[in-house]
Amino acid sequence: GPDYVRAIAPYQAGKPIAEVAREFGLDEANIVKLASNENPFGVPESSKQAMAQAVADLGRYPDANGFDLKAALAKRYDVPAEWITLGNGSNDILEIAAHAFVQKGQAVVYSQYSFAVYALATQGVGARAIVVPAKEYGHDLDAMAAAIDADTKLVFIANPNNPTGTFIPAAQIEAFLQKVPTDVIVVLDEAYNEFLAPEYQFESAEWVRKYPNLVVSRTFSKAYGLAGLRVGFAIAQPAVTDLMNRIRQPFNVNSLAQAAAIAALNDRHFLDQGAQNNAAGYAQFVEAFEELGLQYVPSFGNFVLVRVGDDDEAGARVNLALLKQGVIVRPVGNYGLPQWLRISIGLPQENAIFIAALKKALD
Ligand code: PMP
Repeated sequence: GPDYVRAIAPYQAGKPIAEVAREFGLDEANIVKLASNENPFGVPESSKQAMAQAVADLGRYPDANGFDLKAALAKRYDVPAEWITLGNGSNDILEIAAHAFVQKGQAVVYSQYSFAVYALATQGVGARAIVVPAKEYGHDLDAMAAAIDADTKLVFIANPNNPTGTFIPAAQIEAFLQKVPTDVIVVLDEAYNEFLAPEYQFESAEWVRKYPNLVVSRTFSKAYGLAGLRVGFAIAQPAVTDLMNRIRQPFNVNSLAQAAAIAALNDRHFLDQGAQNNAAGYAQFVEAFEELGLQYVPSFGNFVLVRVGDDDEAGARVNLALLKQGVIVRPVGNYGLPQWLRISIGLPQENAIFIAALKKALD
């Protein structure tokens, strides 16, 4: 295979519950998984009902154009359906963007400590990664704008960012968009957007009207509770969307996922409940970290990055001590953060189990 494929470091996903149960001789029912920024409420009831009805049609291919889901999204975001690209999770959107806009030898700009899939998508097309040093664990947009060179075709921005939870206010993003040449595509990855408190929300879909090179990426995996189904989407102007849809696999979003996503999109109650739980869980974590004297990065997502020691083994050591107690979190050594762990916010009870296990692990 090509050298640039051989150079790819495999993605490290959160350990599945069954695997941890086997490895550590634990009962699956006693394991708490706070490792993949999933929704602790699971699948919305409305989506379960929609899927039960959609099962009857599984003998047929899914709607390749996702007509109903795109119509629902178009209505929600007040854009034409032709401006939407559906993805098999938003990871698919990130990869589609790399394939549609970047060729071998060209360059992609993203931040240090930003989402791991940006590196994979960049390397997957044989492009050069321009990784811009982070500022206070978040994006340094001035430095990112300055890093764009003649080869750059794509910029990835995560807002809020994973794994650090940092957030860039609207005015800074707009200032950045004004600086970027219009032949450079900017993917604004808003996987955690729905967890933002109302005062931080902004209608980024509206910017798509103003910026022909902007692609806003969203997902049903986090706030909507559908991570296992794999549904994400992008909003961009038609010229950009047209290219993304040419490279997209025709049946990349299956029928159950399309039906479930439509139902979830209209389930206001589920989103509100998730946002409330997230705010309460964040307060629970912050209180514990402060009591333990642990540094953490203030988070705008459904997870928190916490520093569990000063040496480069700290993250791995505390992670193992947590696994032995049946608590799965995410080590972030692969992000260059070996002293830190990323913990997803769960239900109050799950958070309490994690906090108790962390206290033991640090003892
Ligand atoms: N973007 C960011 C910033 C993420 O953290 C994630 C999930 N880890 C994704 C995109 C992709 O999620 P999905 O493919 O499930 O939509």
